Amino acid sequence: MAVSWMNNITVAVRVRPVAKGGFRCVHAPEHDRTLLDVRDPDDKMGGSDYLRLNKTRGKRFTFDRVLGEQAQQADVYEATAAQLVQPTLEGFNGTCFAYGATGAGKTHTMMGGLDAPGVVPLAVHELFRAAHEGAEDASVKISMQYIEIYNERIRDLLNPPDEGAGGKHERALDVRESPSAGTFVAGATEKVVSSAAELLDVLHRGNLYRTTEPTGCNEWSSRSHAVLQIVSRSQDRFDDGAPVRRGKLSMIDLAGSERATRTENTGARLNEATNINRSLLSLANCINALADRTRSSKAQHVPYRDSKLTRLLKDSLGGNCLTVMITCVSPAPSEFEETLNSLKYANRAKEI
Ligand code: ADP
Ligand code: MG
Repeated sequence: MAVSWMNNITVAVRVRPVAKGGFRCVHAPEHDRTLLDVRDPDDKMGGSDYLRLNKTRGKRFTFDRVLGEQAQQADVYEATAAQLVQPTLEGFNGTCFAYGATGAGKTHTMMGGLDAPGVVPLAVHELFRAAHEGAEDASVKISMQYIEIYNERIRDLLNPPDEGAGGKHERALDVRESPSAGTFVAGATEKVVSSAAELLDVLHRGNLYRTTEPTGCNEWSSRSHAVLQIVSRSQDRFDDGAPVRRGKLSMIDLAGSERATRTENTGARLNEATNINRSLLSLANCINALADRTRSSKAQHVPYRDSKLTRLLKDSLGGNCLTVMITCVSPAPSEFEETLNSLKYANRAKEI
């Protein structure tokens, strides 16, 4: 398949559905799947007349792909992570992450439900299908790690701690780097899986151990980054001397991007929010640095070392890697500020 190395980040925006009929602060025009119109809900002048956009305080963004409220899970997958599957089998690293405020649809987009599987299960099925199809020429071994970064601590979701009399005994896990394996979480379980069903079963069990805490947002919002890494090792059957091709596909359900103030967090929760935002902020800083590098062709320092998440993704962002960012936004007027912040961030990432 054709991979455009000139533009190795794809920035997609998905607008989650809300109740029909109300005012929307974002609107995806039917005729062009790259445009997104934004309107300040305090600006009543424009009504629902998007033609008057320029006269009002509206703003138009363009992205590689805009997936409107009607978009189905398969549409989102085809426009985003689908392009990462074949390169993974060929030995490249790719990353797909969902960014956005709590409630904007990140987990729905990445994981989905049994009735509407998301990007992760769709990619996993395609990965095993493609590996099986090529099995006459190459043997492929697929393994996975699934970790959570919570409060700048790494937890192994495939090997949760015993919650016995002594309380939680978590082993300290950290990111290491080696010439052969790239960056990885030392000490985290690496599980070899032989089918899509097995991988997804392991993943679902891991999800049961994700950390969730109640916040002022009257729901159990996820405050952690869940990082699934799938490694493919492919060995040519007719050429014993050929090197094993090792590709890695990282798929990440990020913590909510809303600011700590919004949920009136205090004390420990605020400190937690700061650390949660450290990985998120570092990711933004790395993406910005990569964008500057593209623009100026000067060797720009990319601050991978600033957080656990970016240290782990060092071998999977920029360079020869393919990155897909899915920014999830809500069109509800109450979410306007978060939606605009998320779109500004996505707009910046586009330049990589
Ligand atoms: P986040 O992970 O960003 O906090 P969720 O994915 O949990 O948000 O979405 C919040 C709620 O909205 C969930 O109940 C989810 O099922 C629903 N939802 C989000 N996006 C969609 C969508 N595209 N279609 C249908 N329901 C959605
Ligand atoms: Mg979520």
